[in-house]
Parts: sequence; C-alpha cells; structure tokens
Amino acid sequence: MTSAPDAVVVGSGPNGLAAAVTLAGAGLSVTVLERSASIGGGTRTEELTVPGVLHDVCSAVHPLAVASPFLSSLDLGRHGLRWMWPEVDVAHPLDSGRAAVMAGSLAETAAGLGAAGSTWRRLFGPLVERFQQLAVETMGPVLHVPRHPLTLSRFGVRAILPATAVTSLLRAEEPAALFAGIAAHVNYPLERPATAAPGLLLAATGQWRGWPVAKGGSARIAGALASLLASLGGRLETGVHVAGLAELEAWGRPRVVMLDTSPPAAARICGDRMPAAVRHAYESWRFGAAAFKLDLAVSGGLPWTAEPCRRAGTVHVGGAAAEIAAAERDVHRGRMPSRPFVLVAQQYISDPSRSSGDVHPVWAYAHAPQGYDGDATGAILGQIERFAPGSRDRIVALAAQGPAETEAYNPNYVGGDIATGANDWPQLLFRPRLTAHPYDTGVPGVYLCSAATPPGAGVHGMCGHLAARRALDRLHVR
Ligand SMILES: Cc1cc2nc3c(=O)[nH]c(=O)nc-3n(C[C@H](O)[C@H](O)[C@H](O)COP(=O)(O)OP(=O)(O)OC[C@H]3O[C@@H](n4cnc5c(N)ncnc54)[C@H](O)[C@@H]3O)c2cc1C
Repeated sequence: MTSAPDAVVVGSGPNGLAAAVTLAGAGLSVTVLERSASIGGGTRTEELTVPGVLHDVCSAVHPLAVASPFLSSLDLGRHGLRWMWPEVDVAHPLDSGRAAVMAGSLAETAAGLGAAGSTWRRLFGPLVERFQQLAVETMGPVLHVPRHPLTLSRFGVRAILPATAVTSLLRAEEPAALFAGIAAHVNYPLERPATAAPGLLLAATGQWRGWPVAKGGSARIAGALASLLASLGGRLETGVHVAGLAELEAWGRPRVVMLDTSPPAAARICGDRMPAAVRHAYESWRFGAAAFKLDLAVSGGLPWTAEPCRRAGTVHVGGAAAEIAAAERDVHRGRMPSRPFVLVAQQYISDPSRSSGDVHPVWAYAHAPQGYDGDATGAILGQIERFAPGSRDRIVALAAQGPAETEAYNPNYVGGDIATGANDWPQLLFRPRLTAHPYDTGVPGVYLCSAATPPGAGVHGMCGHLAARRALDRLHVR
C-alpha cells in the first residue's frame, strides 16, 4: 500500500468524486473507496439489453451538470467529457396529438406556446436572464448570505409555491402540462409547498443552456472526474464497502472522511462517535417515492404521434397537468397509478454512438410508491403506447429495474428513492437537518457529501464540492 492519504471519500458517485477533486485540487492526498466493481454511482452506462446498445443505468439527462458552478469550472472536456444537445430538449405529448415543447431558449419556447407564450415569458424571463446568479444562489444551502439578493428573491417568491399554483398561473393546457412534467421531477405531490422550486430551476436551466446528455453515456461524467482526480494524484479503489469508521484505520488515520451515503448509512458508519442529536436527525431522514425503470432496445425508435417528440432528448409522458398531479398524489398515498407519470429519455437522438445500427436505447421510468414490489412494466409501456402507438411492436429487448433492484444496486436509493430522500418542504429547505453547517456530521473530520445534503439530487457535484470546501475551511486550507 502507498502512504496513508489525508482524505478518504466513501462512495464514488458524482458528489463523492466532486469532493475528491476539490480536496485533491487543494493539495490533499485523496483515496476514494467504492463498494461496487465500477465507479460512478448514479452515473454509469452499461449494455443492459443488446450488445452495442448503451443504456444509462441511472442518470441520463444533465441540465444540472451544465448549470453547476463547480462542474462548469472544471475543464472536463480535456478528460473526455463532451455534451450533446438534442434539437428539442423536452417534448410533452398530449391526447390532442400535439406536443408542448421546451427548446434551448426562452424565446423559442415562448414562441412555440403561441398566445400563452407571453405568460411563460413573464414567469421565466427573470430567471433565465440572470441564470448564472440564480445557480450560485440556489445550488447550495438555503441558509446563506445571498450575493444576488434580488435574483434570489425573484426566484424565492415563485419557488415557495406549490407546482400546481404555477400550472394554474400558466392557465392554457400546453404550458401548464409542460411545466407540470418538468416540476414532477420532484417526485412529490405537486400541491405541496415549495414543489415549484425544482421545476422552476430545471426549466430555467433548460432555457438557458438546454438539457444535454454525455457523449458515450453518463459514465463518461464519472470517467472525466476520475481522470481529473488521477491527474491531481488521487486514487480510486473499487470493491470496498465501508461499514464503519474503524475500517478506515487500514488507510491510516485520514484527516478528512467524506461520506457519499444516505444519512442513516452515515449514522451507522459513524456509530457511537456521532452526537446523539445528529444521529437522531439522520435516523429520522425520510425517503420518498421510488422509480420503476425500464431500458428498452427499440428498432427504429419510438413512433411518437407528435412530431417534436421524435426529435426530443426527453419526453414527459403523463398527459395534462391535472392528470400528472393526480398520478403523483396516488403514488404518495402508496397506490401505483394505472397511468403513471413516465419520464422517457432518447439520448441516441443527439448521441448516435449509443445505438447499434437501427436499434436504439430508450430509457424510461415511472414514479412508483416507496418500496413498490409490483411490476410497473405494463403501465409504463401503456403510457408510451398512448402517445406512440405501435411502440410495443418495435421493442426488441427490455430490462426492468424495480425499487428493490435499485436499492441493491446502490444503497443510497433506499426503497427505490433515486433522490436519496423525500423532497418534502422541510427536507428541500433544510437537508439533512436544520443547521448552519449541513455537511458536518458532528464527528470531527467526517462530513456528509451525498445528494441528501444541499442542494439535493441530480448530477451537479455541488454537494460534494461544498462539503469538501467546508472540510478545507476547517483545516484552514484555501
Ligand atoms: C434511475 C435514475 C435516474 C436518474 N436520472 C437523473 C438524470 O437524468 N439527471 C440527473 O441529474 N440525475 C438523475 N438521477 C439522480 C442522480 O443520479 C443522483 O442524484 C446522483 O447520482 C447523486 O450523486 P451522489 O454522489 O450523491 O450519490 P450516488 O450517485 O448515489 O453515489 C453513491 C456511491 O456511493 C457508493 N457507496 C454507498 N455506500 C457506500 C459504502 N458504505 N462504502 C462504499 N461505497 C458506498 C455507492 O455504491 C455509489 O457508487 C437519477 C438517478 C437514478 C437512480
């Protein structure tokens, strides 16, 4: 074994890798320990169906990565990462046979919404115009001294609303459905407070810089971060599950330990060393609804009725705004809806390297109750068939992943909750507990850096970066 590292990062998801890169960039020697055989956590790509067809196992579409102040400060292009943009970022098909569309700019999106475009423009204009300020203010802890108070307050007055209040403001069917689909990423009932926040941010990001995918698959994001880490002298070890801090003695006595885990797992790893109040908060962490995922190999792609869907990187399948809100309510009452909200990604449209000849990978997941143990395959395919009749006949292979498989694949996704925690308003605002120092675990030198910390789920690396910054501040390293 080489000399003992200054810092050990447990888990190699995008936040673990971002933490490692930040620490290594500040001059610390860093080792990342990953329980799986491959790195990347939620950013992995595999041939799940047909040889040569590349499926993103978890994350697929990356508006938050291009919006991330940290990731965009890194020259990841030099480490093999290339973003690819579809012609249409998001399409939302309706039973009329038309589709509402979010394009890569506010002007294009508003123009496509016809008479309703002016309301859309009024809602998103202030957010898109100052998006970089907005990203700095929102992609971190809620409790902070704002650098751009006006931009933050413009966002805040909209963000505290329920998503359904925003769909009511938008009134017309197409913009309301378009926003409901984007807002439904929160995977929480849309009439609850603050559920507008993630949707506003995702829509603003999309109209600022689009919703791209990584050329060759999401694994390239982890690959680029790992390559950057190696260039800074950092090391990665796979196949190492860390169950307790004592095990880290094998890596010397690191000055810094970063945990890219869920809060309850962090409590188990820290054991008696964690103060009782923090332990209680971590053990009381609430997990949210699940995802039931299908990876499809589709000959010729999906035959969507609405033409923009055939050019879209992401298609939100769920119909009108009210129907999506009802499906989300059902999920949170523990019932699997017969017509669930389904997110579909067609990465091959902007990145043909994912396909094998005319067989294309299609990524889809439905929101499902926490820990759902049924089979949602039929419900997902039924929803796709509703807007793309004839789809079933084109599927040459299919892989399904329910909540139990998702948790077995990655213990951060308890009960199939891919956000590592419910997006209820207390957890949206104060994660993982109410404190001015959300990355501290109360154990000296040990920090939580996963998506359970601010700013939350998604591939942006901000949780890891900010947790590492906190560790460096406490070590007085600039
Ligand atoms: C199906 C699905 C679809 C998604 N779609 C998108 C999307 O399109 N866009 C987007 O931005 N986000 C998406 N996400 C969310 C995104 O992937 C996550 O929010 C993000 O990966 C969280 O990063 P993280 O570093 O906090 O944790 P993770 O990526 O979950 O990584 C945690 C890592 O830590 C490892 N680990 C955990 N415990 C231990 C231990 N005790 N010892 C050693 N290693 C350990 C795990 O094996 C894992 O590799 C999706 C997630 C899923 C599952």
